[in-house]
Amino acid sequence: MDLGVKDKKVLVTAASKGLGKACAKAYAEEGAHVVIASRNKSQLERAVTEIIEQTGNAKVEVVVCDLTKSQDIQHMIQAVGPVDILINNAGGPPAGKFNDFDDDDWQHAFELLLMNIIRTVRAVTPGMREQQFGRIVNITSSSMKQALDGLLLSNTFRPAIVGLSKSLSQELASDHILINSVGPGTMETDRIRDIYKQQPSDESVEERMQKAGANIPIGCIGQPEEFAKAILFLGSAANTYITGQTLIVDGGAMKTL
Ligand code: NAD
Repeated sequence: MDLGVKDKKVLVTAASKGLGKACAKAYAEEGAHVVIASRNKSQLERAVTEIIEQTGNAKVEVVVCDLTKSQDIQHMIQAVGPVDILINNAGGPPAGKFNDFDDDDWQHAFELLLMNIIRTVRAVTPGMREQQFGRIVNITSSSMKQALDGLLLSNTFRPAIVGLSKSLSQELASDHILINSVGPGTMETDRIRDIYKQQPSDESVEERMQKAGANIPIGCIGQPEEFAKAILFLGSAANTYITGQTLIVDGGAMKTL
């Protein structure tokens, strides 16, 4: 299938590693012009070198941006120019229960998870409207559908992204701008490894990840590249009729309908 992303300008935020980087690589493989954003310039540059080496596509650039800062987002969009495809990703919020968080924690999670999407969508949609084409995909979490134990901040703000995206899908469809959200179950990234490392156990991280994978119907934890395939299709010209939807990529782990 021709995904129709060759030479399209794709902005992937929070893409110096993990799921964001895997998505950027998937677009680069298809010949897109990819810009990756994150806070740390040297990490971004390492990611770009890797993506160019692995895909042979040299049209991969970086822009430094802290997604919790409105000014950084404005600068990022000015630097990148008109975008055809926006993949909204962000770092994950800390784990914790209600009494673990004060106002600053709530404010930070709001800026990182929800406000960042509001700001990027506001910045890119005028250009998408003008060109009568746009695809936006939000990387969220399975918590957009089912609350996760000990992840109160995620459980609060991820479902808000679903509501926002549904409303946006109604407003943007007539300009051929489609918006969807994709939630990972458990994918093997640094974030997941760090979570396992923090849990006290006599077993190694590898052993525990293997056991966790055995409890997933498909039999293992997912790889970032498997997640990126779903993003690539929804955020492509080949997707012409899916908008306002949520998709969970979790190997069948969640039982909610
Ligand atoms: P990761 O920690 O491997 O990568 C996170 C990326 O976000 C890095 O590039 C980091 O530099 C960037 N980042 C963090 N804070 C930022 C900020 N303020 N501004 C700009 N960039 C910032 O994480 P991941 O596993 O790839 O997860 C990506 C997203 O998916 C997170 O929101 C995470 O909570 C969510 N998620 C992941 C999983 C999973 O299984 N990996 C499961 C559920 C949800």
